[in-house]
Amino acid sequence: MRSTMMKDPLSLNHLLERAGRLFPESEIVSRLPDKSLRRHSYAQYYARTRQLAAALQGLGLKKGDRVATLCWNHHAHLECYFGIPAAGGVMHTLNLRLSPDEIGWIAADAGDRFLIVDDILLPLYRQFAGKHAFERVIVFPFSGAPVAGEFTDYEKLLEDAPPGFDYAPHDENDPVAMCYTSGTTGRSKGVAYSHRSTVLHTLVASLPEFWGLAGRDVVLPVTPMFHANCWGIPYGAVMLGTKLVFPGPHLHPDDLLDLIKLEPPTMALGVPTIWLTLIQALEAHPEKWSLPKGMRSLVGGAAVPESLIRAFARHGVRIAQGWGMTETSPLATLSYIKPELSDVSEDEQFRLAATAGVTAPLVELRLVGDNGVCPWDGKSVGEVQVRGPFITGSYHNVENDPAKFSEDGWLRTGDVAKMDAHGYLHITDRTKDLIKSGGEWISSVDLENAIMAHPAIAEAAVIAVPHEKWGERPLACVVIKPGQSVTPESLNEALAKKFAKWQLPDRYEFLDAIPRTSTGKFWKMKLRERFSGAR
Ligand code: ADP
Repeated sequence: MRSTMMKDPLSLNHLLERAGRLFPESEIVSRLPDKSLRRHSYAQYYARTRQLAAALQGLGLKKGDRVATLCWNHHAHLECYFGIPAAGGVMHTLNLRLSPDEIGWIAADAGDRFLIVDDILLPLYRQFAGKHAFERVIVFPFSGAPVAGEFTDYEKLLEDAPPGFDYAPHDENDPVAMCYTSGTTGRSKGVAYSHRSTVLHTLVASLPEFWGLAGRDVVLPVTPMFHANCWGIPYGAVMLGTKLVFPGPHLHPDDLLDLIKLEPPTMALGVPTIWLTLIQALEAHPEKWSLPKGMRSLVGGAAVPESLIRAFARHGVRIAQGWGMTETSPLATLSYIKPELSDVSEDEQFRLAATAGVTAPLVELRLVGDNGVCPWDGKSVGEVQVRGPFITGSYHNVENDPAKFSEDGWLRTGDVAKMDAHGYLHITDRTKDLIKSGGEWISSVDLENAIMAHPAIAEAAVIAVPHEKWGERPLACVVIKPGQSVTPESLNEALAKKFAKWQLPDRYEFLDAIPRTSTGKFWKMKLRERFSGAR
């Protein structure tokens, strides 16, 4: 027998049409370079997005052509998220924090045909223009200055778009977007998402126990729109008619706190370092700012210290931690309290919130250790491997690499973790960050989280340094909060409550700041280069 169901392809266009029809009054707020706010209704957004699609087709865009974006978070970037695929193209978000050489290499590797760039980012564009020739460069006049020279004006392009627009015919497996891994641990590699993978990821991620996204939410995406599809929030928000507040280029904690005051969000997302600096600014000036009570914050991209989750809880904000990668669309797990644990103590709830959480529906996850697949016993440690309909099965332009994919078709994430009996994932490290001392593993993540729980410490990153006798030993790089003081001895004394003596760092480096990667995470490779000569 055959199913009687229709075979309509999963499509982003459906989400856009739905938004245009059902949520014309929802709002999109963008902070402009001069810090003023520009507002668009979803009705305007819908019309402009279709104009963009029509204009791109008018420029000769063919199915599968890549259109790169080099933009901050704002309404026009959101127009690209849906307008480029609507025209049949593939939106390729370029990471503006990479070096010009890397951006040029990535644009060439992706074969980008057109570029949409913020006017304020033209100086950056000029630095890599020689590495890859775009057929056309479309400039979004973000600052309001006139677009001059050889460039096409984004606003004029929309104004002059041919009337009437038909969505490009497509199969649900056709690509809609492309993102390169940020290359924290090696050369960037391209991942291409399809209509199908994106729609499925959007549906799963929006579930009440994951993002719990609703049309009545107001979302502040601090996560850059070039970082793993802004974790999928733009798609979910458009699907549900959710108000979006885009910070533009203003990501300094003071600017974010000002924006939160002006347009209070019910939900915000970003990597832990954003929230670590924001809470310090907030607590330094409680008379100036506050956080909206009941706000949720989706934090991921790196381990979230329990102390940070507790600090936000004191301000009435609940942090949910997600684990994922560019390769996984990205949300693959999220920490929430499962029904059978609803009665656990508050301390236990915080402990669970500080894990990477529970695997998302449609994602299969296993840990593979030296003795094969690990049991869920909270002890056995292995590499996290995942598979599912929104997990990449290969990389763009790369021969399949057995280091990245297992023989039986799982993505090898390079993350090391254990799973407890309830199915909560505890990431202990990236393979490259593991510390092996005298044949025993020490988790850098556990040490960092414990150090950051110390009231005098703002930031901490722990790396391995070579040691004659033990092979490797942990070195802790720490940033002390202004006006505080602390010694290696007092830090180790505090850690000794939780760790065995041999696990404690035997060296501390006190720094002004921990270097950040292009997506804002602690950059341990730079610390290793500086303190141990290794990468
Ligand atoms: P990059 O690999 O360049 O950092 P991604 O943003 O794709 O780019 O990073 C994915 C990686 O980030 C994961 O493999 C993992 O190491 C780390 N990561 C993401 N979320 C978490 C989390 N909640 N806890 C610990 N590590 C995380």
